Amino acid sequence: MQTLTTRCCVVGGGPAGMMAGLLLARQGVDVTVLEKHGDFLRDFRGDTVHPSTLQIFDELGLIEEFLTIKHSEVRTISIETPAGSTEVADFTRLPGKYRYVAFMPQWDLLDFVARKARELPSFRLIQRAEATDLVQVDGRVLGVRVTTADGPLEIHSDLVLAADGRHSTVRRAAGLPLSVSETPMDVLWFRLSREPGEGMSFLRTGPGHLLITIDRGAYWQVAYIIPAGAYDTVRAEGLPRLRERIASVRGTFKERLEREITDWDDLKLLNVRVDRLRTWYRPGLLCIGDAAHAMSPAGGVGINLAVQDAVAAARMLGPALKAGRTPSRRELAAVQRRRAFPARVVQFVQVRLMSDMYPKEPGTYTRPPSVVRIVRRFPFLRRWTARLIGLGVRPEHVE
Ligand SMILES: Cc1cc2nc3c(=O)[nH]c(=O)nc-3n(C[C@H](O)[C@H](O)[C@H](O)COP(=O)(O)OP(=O)(O)OC[C@H]3O[C@@H](n4cnc5c(N)ncnc54)[C@H](O)[C@@H]3O)c2cc1C
Repeated sequence: MQTLTTRCCVVGGGPAGMMAGLLLARQGVDVTVLEKHGDFLRDFRGDTVHPSTLQIFDELGLIEEFLTIKHSEVRTISIETPAGSTEVADFTRLPGKYRYVAFMPQWDLLDFVARKARELPSFRLIQRAEATDLVQVDGRVLGVRVTTADGPLEIHSDLVLAADGRHSTVRRAAGLPLSVSETPMDVLWFRLSREPGEGMSFLRTGPGHLLITIDRGAYWQVAYIIPAGAYDTVRAEGLPRLRERIASVRGTFKERLEREITDWDDLKLLNVRVDRLRTWYRPGLLCIGDAAHAMSPAGGVGINLAVQDAVAAARMLGPALKAGRTPSRRELAAVQRRRAFPARVVQFVQVRLMSDMYPKEPGTYTRPPSVVRIVRRFPFLRRWTARLIGLGVRPEHVE
């Protein structure tokens, strides 16, 4: 068994973990990020970089280089319903410099952060390294047990930052209790080719369906939302019926669906869960991002909330780690206190206020979602929806 000692061991190289690694390394903290995959190329990741995250890159002096990566800039979000299209969020009137959401494949975002972090001497990223358990003595977390491509590894650290997502191994190993757990929907996730110059709205909802189309250049990344737990029923009805349902939402997809979705393996089922920990920390351990509060894709805010957690954690705990000491219980609790409120607000909106957007029974009639009805009645609210999506409740800053 090999061993490695580092000040902070970050488990998980998603938005929360990579950003925490970069920010701690910039403070001169010796940090090791573990990522179980060999690259960042997984297409189930969301693609949105919000104004709050763009602002962070600005504060780091990296924004110009970041924006040279291919992306599209979305200034308003509309929902299409059978009654027409309604603009539900207008980012152009946000305070601050960045008044749009940048759509960029998440692997490009993570590659960029990894590249910048690797330039710093105290940063280490180990890929194909899966944390399997914690090293604990008397309820105190002292490190992580890891399986790597080169065999088992034990890492000793002053702090383990769990950023290993919604199925977090670390939070399970720590026995941290969940206070909420809901499954508002499931997602069928697939690609369809995109015709040159083809444009379409991002979100279309109607009688018993919700379809999200993300422009990834050569293809559309499509999310077809089904009721939570409905996959077996959808499968029993057969692929032709599913293709028919999707084509009834977006007629122009009909032939492409027949050509490109010919097997269930062409679709991925993603289970969406929304949960949060009652306590995010134990001595020597702090959970951030989805590991602390798993987010639904609704509103596309999970990535940015994860980044904001990382910014707060690095800013609040970096000085203790730099001084060579394990952050105290009080310091860990302060991070939770600061970040739990924004997560709770967003989860409330995702699960309660947006619940009537999600299909319940395929084919049943639903009225336009309340968000559409409200914004049609009070158009000035589009500014506030944009603020919630784009900046969140408690925007963080690097310093
Ligand atoms: C279908 C779907 C679509 C979504 N779309 C969007 C969107 O468009 N915009 C948006 O903002 N949010 C979206 N979200 C939410 C968003 O994906 C999450 O909130 C966000 O990714 C959380 O970031 P994170 O870094 O905390 O965790 P993750 O992104 O889940 O990253 C965790 C990382 O840890 C690694 N890992 C896991 N276990 C281990 C282990 N034991 N050892 C080492 N590494 C490990 C994983 O490989 C992964 O790289 C979506 C969610 C779903 C389910």
